[in-house]
Amino acid sequence: MFQIAILGGGLAGLVAAIELGKKYKVLLVEKDPYPRHRVCGEYVSNEVLPYLQTMGIHPLAEGAIPINQFEISTHSGNLIKTKLPLGGFGMSRYALDNLLFKKATKMAQIKFETCTEIKFKNTHFSIATKESNTYTAHYVIGAFGKRSAIDKVLERNFIQKKSSWLAVKAHYNYNFDPNVVALHNFDGGYCGLSKIEAGAVNACYLTTYKSFKRAKNITEFQQKIMSRNPLLANFFQHAQPLFENPLTISQVSFESKKPIENHIFMIGDAAGLIHPLCGNGMAMAIHSAKLLATVFFQNDFNNRNLLEKEYAKIWTHTFSRRLQSGQWIQKVLLRPALAKASFKIAKIVPSVLPKIIEKTHGESFV
Ligand SMILES: Cc1cc2nc3c(=O)[nH]c(=O)nc-3n(C[C@H](O)[C@H](O)[C@H](O)COP(=O)(O)OP(=O)(O)OC[C@H]3O[C@@H](n4cnc5c(N)ncnc54)[C@H](O)[C@@H]3O)c2cc1C
Repeated sequence: MFQIAILGGGLAGLVAAIELGKKYKVLLVEKDPYPRHRVCGEYVSNEVLPYLQTMGIHPLAEGAIPINQFEISTHSGNLIKTKLPLGGFGMSRYALDNLLFKKATKMAQIKFETCTEIKFKNTHFSIATKESNTYTAHYVIGAFGKRSAIDKVLERNFIQKKSSWLAVKAHYNYNFDPNVVALHNFDGGYCGLSKIEAGAVNACYLTTYKSFKRAKNITEFQQKIMSRNPLLANFFQHAQPLFENPLTISQVSFESKKPIENHIFMIGDAAGLIHPLCGNGMAMAIHSAKLLATVFFQNDFNNRNLLEKEYAKIWTHTFSRRLQSGQWIQKVLLRPALAKASFKIAKIVPSVLPKIIEKTHGESFV
């Protein structure tokens, strides 16, 4: 019997395991081994840097690249540059998740298994895995990311609806300013470029199926659709891929979710996915895990109702406004006329852009 079982070992699950393992008997169930690449823009907001440092994780000492400039371009390559209010760093998920995994192994029991079923039985949960094991735990934390087979088992609302988004990511050799994170728009999506440790450039884009279907495959899509933006044309012409094939994910859903469902505490993307263009999903994943741990530490472990109420309150207070701002920005960017008008305003009043960025980010914490 575990006191807490965490399902999913991405950033949120790993941080939760490290924190909660200080006081409780914790199980972490993760389906895939470390290290591994994930579809992600790999720009991490500095709001989590002081906190990571308190955990003994020092991304910059591990080769992460400090980033303090933001560039955004229209479909036609019209570019605006601004300083990032808080800044961040570029680090691959391959490296970052692995650093946290090494810490988590000391704090929790980790099983590399795929969770297939969760049942709540009044006082505890029963968790079944594909590997035919069953675990019991007093509490379950859902850290299984933006979309998992568990969401279907739990019959969560968002999973019933089809999403119109897919994402593609790969690393490249390319001559790129290390202090910049760029967001280049194209018809039906946007592509983020930023450097990660060891000097590679991560290119990660999100696009609609509607737009993607206009090409036969990824290469043609990059050359014919994305490259109508001259800045992306330059990138795909000169960048040398470091992956044999890009990584892809489908059905990326931005539907709203709930921080508590079926008595499960949801953290990270399982609680809500912010639009990737905000570059804040990883910080939110880490922060939500830390908030949940604080709720556990500050309240009576045996009072389930109180813990649920307190976590739902703090999660909503901390993240709901950011999620709304992200939705609003995405809507603007995907409407070419609106995007063009907004760019004109941002060119005339340059202070607008940092203010918008601030709305999608939080303050740094420890
Ligand atoms: C295209 C794109 C670009 C992005 N770019 C950025 C960016 O530049 N900056 C940023 O801050 N954020 C970005 N994000 C968001 C960021 O990737 C997420 O917010 C972050 O990964 C969330 O972490 P997590 O721990 O909640 O989920 P994840 O990192 O997805 O981890 C979930 C874990 O659960 C495991 N799992 C799932 N199902 C099961 C199961 N049944 N049993 C066991 N384990 C299971 C998975 O294997 C995985 O390890 C981007 C997202 C997308 C889609």
